[in-house]
Amino acid sequence: MKENLEKLSIGVDIGGTKVLGGVVDSQGKILTTHRKDTPKQGGEALTQTIADVINELTQQYKVEGVGISAAGFVSSDRKTMLATPNISGWNGINLENEISIRVGLPVVIENDANAAAWGESRYGAGRGQSQMMMLTIGTGIGGGIVVDGALHRGAYGIAAEFGHLRVVPEGHLCGCGARGCFEQYASGNALMRHAREAISAAPDAAHNLLARGNGSIEGLTGKHITEAAREGDMVALAAFNTTAQWLGAGIASLSVLLDPACVVIGGGVIDAGEILLAPTRAAVERYMPFQGKHPSPQIVAAELGNDAGVVGAADLARN
Ligand SMILES: [Zn+2]
Repeated sequence: MKENLEKLSIGVDIGGTKVLGGVVDSQGKILTTHRKDTPKQGGEALTQTIADVINELTQQYKVEGVGISAAGFVSSDRKTMLATPNISGWNGINLENEISIRVGLPVVIENDANAAAWGESRYGAGRGQSQMMMLTIGTGIGGGIVVDGALHRGAYGIAAEFGHLRVVPEGHLCGCGARGCFEQYASGNALMRHAREAISAAPDAAHNLLARGNGSIEGLTGKHITEAAREGDMVALAAFNTTAQWLGAGIASLSVLLDPACVVIGGGVIDAGEILLAPTRAAVERYMPFQGKHPSPQIVAAELGNDAGVVGAADLARN
């Protein structure tokens, strides 16, 4: 057992393929990690896997508490999974109770995008910003809001679900059941759609891009689009620019709600860096209400990458 004078806590990030736990110090540094495969059946098996990861870590370090980052709607008291669209057998469970009786420590539960936003606000790209929001852009768009230096949770777990703001009346059907949601236009999946449309619009210019996917649109991945854009491929850049138009317009609209000083962009799409951020900043300027009458928020790339959930959840367990 390693003694440490600092207050340590554990953050656990529940992903689709692995449950990753880490012991984190008060500087946001991960001291050690342990991981197990995510049981596909969810439910009790997943709950026990999380407890096993935590119990493995507590054999190495003395910790004060545990924060768990999970996809789904979490009650405002940070105990209950109100709904888990992507995890079987967890709807309505009091996860705080289920885990704390297995590990003998205080436990808090947090939505994954919220935990990531908190990690970035404490130790990453949003450091020192008391008004910030984060958009985690992967297959969909997750969000987190920090207001006056505190995470904003809302009443029923759906605060900061920015991906489901309606931006196009009767637009593309979304996985949430509504139409025209933001994530249908500005997510990683949307980037692929914009790429397919750019290829159809200019098939002669798309040969180089298509070659990366063995000649077919179906063979292309987000990574291919990013690599091609880095090399200046005009079709790939057009897909990023279209995505950035939607993203910037969305951030401008969100600014009249939250007035953030800083907007952190994370998730897989941010691997493209300035290829996405530069046109997004330009679009924020273009679409911002009262443009020129107030400063625009800084738009910056996330810094913690895949560690944001573990670091954020661990810090929430300390606060
Ligand atoms: Zn939706």
